[in-house]
Amino acid sequence: MMAIRRSHRPRSVRLVAGTATHTGQIRASNQDAVGMVDDLFVVADGMGGHRGGEVAAAEAVDVLMVGLERSDRAGLVAAVRAANRSILERAAAEPDLSGMGTTLCALAVVDSPSGDDALAVVNIGDSRVYRFAAGRLDQISDDHSLVADLVRAGEITSEEAAHHPQRNILTRALGIEADPLIDSWDLVPVRGDRYLLCSDGLFNELDDGRLTEMLSGGSVQEVADRLVQEAVDNGGHDNVTVLVAEVATGPEPRGTDREAISMARSEQALRSLPVPENAPGVVRASLASASCILAAAVLVLGMYAHQGWFIGSDDGDVAVFRGRPSGLLWFDPTLVEGGDLRVAGLDEPTRIAVEETIVVGSLDEARRLIEGFRGTVSGA
Ligand code: MG
Repeated sequence: MMAIRRSHRPRSVRLVAGTATHTGQIRASNQDAVGMVDDLFVVADGMGGHRGGEVAAAEAVDVLMVGLERSDRAGLVAAVRAANRSILERAAAEPDLSGMGTTLCALAVVDSPSGDDALAVVNIGDSRVYRFAAGRLDQISDDHSLVADLVRAGEITSEEAAHHPQRNILTRALGIEADPLIDSWDLVPVRGDRYLLCSDGLFNELDDGRLTEMLSGGSVQEVADRLVQEAVDNGGHDNVTVLVAEVATGPEPRGTDREAISMARSEQALRSLPVPENAPGVVRASLASASCILAAAVLVLGMYAHQGWFIGSDDGDVAVFRGRPSGLLWFDPTLVEGGDLRVAGLDEPTRIAVEETIVVGSLDEARRLIEGFRGTVSGA
């Protein structure tokens, strides 16, 4: 694929990166995808029957590679939205790809509002971005998964989450709804810092202590190869994909930089893409045409909208619906079954998850989950 030169001036910050991927010991195919071009680095972990997962992950990476029009954090988020539209449209057009989706995390060198080189990170799903700096490993991204919600609610520990039977259930992904919430961060580049982008096949096999040790030595390519090899040796229960990027040229480490990074981490997700007053005409035009494409896609999406399953509340009862929650509100979801379990009786994190709706892959999966919910009913 052609690399698109996005910056019109020489960058003072440059990253070097190494990458490796493996199908693992259990799965028949590798539904992860990885890409890097210029100053953009992407990992995606696809899901969906047949070839759906592979297609969704590859589509997300490809669209991001060519779709980054504005070299700032908002531009990166817009490119992820373009990838989401592309996956939805393709799933609607090709029946055997129906229901496909993917996680996506990416790191890019971008322009900061003051015109300096900055790093931007985006994430949706449970692939992860870590920073390894001054001997310390920090997870930058938040997982969008049921178990991560349970950990944040204080219901289970991180250790319990790591072995939880429902740890593969995502609360957000690309290919699920028309307007997904995408997390993003601005980070201060510091020479020598390493960033690890990976699919869950890595961190489900190696704990943080081991990741820290392995990031400490070797070239970025050596580290990527060794991480993947160790994940496969430890069981390789899932596809495993690793991208290690190091800030090769850029500002020297200073105490204040670390503080700036941790402050940037708490920043809220960027919900909508603002068009600045001085945006060039070409950007406005492309945004306008994107809206037209989206509007035209609504009819096509109507077919797709009735192909999914989710758990939600029906008059206070836990219920299974056919359709798509939020994002596509103009398509009425169809109630499939429910009525014998009250939402109000569930423990708090489960209740919140049901009220916000939980997207599932099938009626069977919905039934299994709801059976699990019965155990959380107070007094049960
Ligand atoms: Mg995976």
